[in-house]
Amino acid sequence: DIKAKIVDEEGLRRTITRLAHEIIEKNKGSKNIVLIGMRTRGEFIAERIKNKIKEIDNYEPPFGVLDVTLYRDDFRTRLKQPEVSVTNITFDINEKDVILIDDVLYTGRTARAALDAIMDLGRPNTIQLCVLVDRGHREMPIKADFVGKNIPTSINEEIKVKLKEIDGEDSIYLVNA
Ligand code: 5GP
Ligand code: MG
Repeated sequence: DIKAKIVDEEGLRRTITRLAHEIIEKNKGSKNIVLIGMRTRGEFIAERIKNKIKEIDNYEPPFGVLDVTLYRDDFRTRLKQPEVSVTNITFDINEKDVILIDDVLYTGRTARAALDAIMDLGRPNTIQLCVLVDRGHREMPIKADFVGKNIPTSINEEIKVKLKEIDGEDSIYLVNA
């Protein structure tokens, strides 16, 4: 159940705008950028950032999607093992600055698996991680280059990201798991 509404529609719009500005600033423009969203909600966040970059910098970066499937690693370890597969990345990533975009960063295992999938596609100049929410509890040496909101969670809390495209509203909630 819901503990707190952290971000509303207006707040989410401002956050996306700031992330787009930060990405453009760090990369000295958008011309060498490609965007890759992690299905499901990372895809919609990436698409919004793409549209905002176009608005700001008058250039629409190439945009692709990675699929994530979660497997139980082993009943003894209880760890989830994310498997990332490439679906529709039709552009060249060689020498590009790849912006990997997801809704929530938690243990870092999904991002780590995504790095493998991206590097199988070519040799990018850089890979940068952009997340809407960093909820802490990292288990891998992964950090995000661009963070929408830092929302530290306790072990029994989760983040609910709602996006108009699939959830009918734009908001971020802290919930009891
Ligand atoms: P990690 O692999 O870093 O443990 O978890 C990140 C992935 O799991 C992301 O793809 C994200 O969508 C999902 N995830 C992990 N924790 C949460 C959470 O609290 N809320 C939401 N909405 N997704 C989460
Ligand atoms: Mg996800």
